[in-house]
Amino acid sequence: MSKSYNFSAGPAKLPTDVLKQVQNELLNWHNTDASVMELSHRGKDFDACAIEATNDLREILNVPQNYKILFCQGGARAQFAAVPLNILGNNTTADYINSGYWSQCAAKEASKYCQIKEQNIVIKENGLTSVKPMSEWELSDDSAYVHYCPNETIDGIEIFEEPNFGDKTVVADFSSCILSQPIEVSKYGIIYAGAQKNIGPSGITIVIVREDLIGYAQNILPSVLNYKILQDHDSMFNTPPTFAWYMSGLVFKWIKSLGGLNAMQERNEAKAQLLYQFIDQSDFYRNTIATANRSIMNVTFLSPNEELDKKFVSEATKANIIGIKGHRIAGGMRASIYNAMDIEGINYLIHFMKHFEKQNG
Ligand code: PMP
Repeated sequence: MSKSYNFSAGPAKLPTDVLKQVQNELLNWHNTDASVMELSHRGKDFDACAIEATNDLREILNVPQNYKILFCQGGARAQFAAVPLNILGNNTTADYINSGYWSQCAAKEASKYCQIKEQNIVIKENGLTSVKPMSEWELSDDSAYVHYCPNETIDGIEIFEEPNFGDKTVVADFSSCILSQPIEVSKYGIIYAGAQKNIGPSGITIVIVREDLIGYAQNILPSVLNYKILQDHDSMFNTPPTFAWYMSGLVFKWIKSLGGLNAMQERNEAKAQLLYQFIDQSDFYRNTIATANRSIMNVTFLSPNEELDKKFVSEATKANIIGIKGHRIAGGMRASIYNAMDIEGINYLIHFMKHFEKQNG
């Protein structure tokens, strides 16, 4: 079988070295003569593996000691509900910043549980999309928190600024950019992310929560999403997705071995720059996001028309390019170039794009 290049938005490409290790250990993990997925989450081997993964994540992201790292289930979407139900306390309102599809989904879900003050920060000007800088976000005095999404996976919009809103608790959906670059965790009250892009297989969700926000859950919150219960049970109140947790731990080790998040950032910026530069110099392809908000994880692009977009996707698939079709609501193409995508993959894609342009331009 010939080599393929996987640009899927998620579940996404995982590091080959990690997959090989998983393959090696699949039938005999830690000399147990069993697979990790066959062993009790209460056993000493899995317990050690879970703790190590948590510690490695804390080290990579430089998570301060007054933050808990929780491993949850239900994906990022479960957190859309879990956040208000855990931290609203006696408050009844929350600010929701709308920068695209996923932040809108978060707002819609939260509106079941509180009064949301939604604010659209998207600006469309001269065919380019950008977002308002944080200094222009209007937050309300009485909101329990402000929620935003630093990387809109579908739109290819990234907010690189870090929040600085005084005492206001900031909650961020980092699903598609966590571990892509260093972040200052202390600027956030809660950071959450589904695993299936930069962390590991789908099925596990990481929640990093400042301790003082824990303990205010509403009664109607299902126990499995209650941060206090998760904290008190080391994220094992119900049976955790052990295989996903184990694999996430291997990805954390892989990131460490490459030099941590500074190295990831350098690598990711170089990849994204290469692709955007190619798109910008071409008269055939275009990207419609303003430079300051171009995602380094999800690069969206269009050919001259929808017919050619379709043809591009179909021919790319024949050329062993996986997952390049844009999301159905956005159209066009999207190359998701998370941590595990290397520069060789970007060069292969550009090579194909050049070829397609020559044939159809
Ligand atoms: N937020 C963002 C930014 C996402 O990209 C996604 C999934 N693509 C989600 C939320 C939803 O994640 P899940 O399917 O894990 O609930």
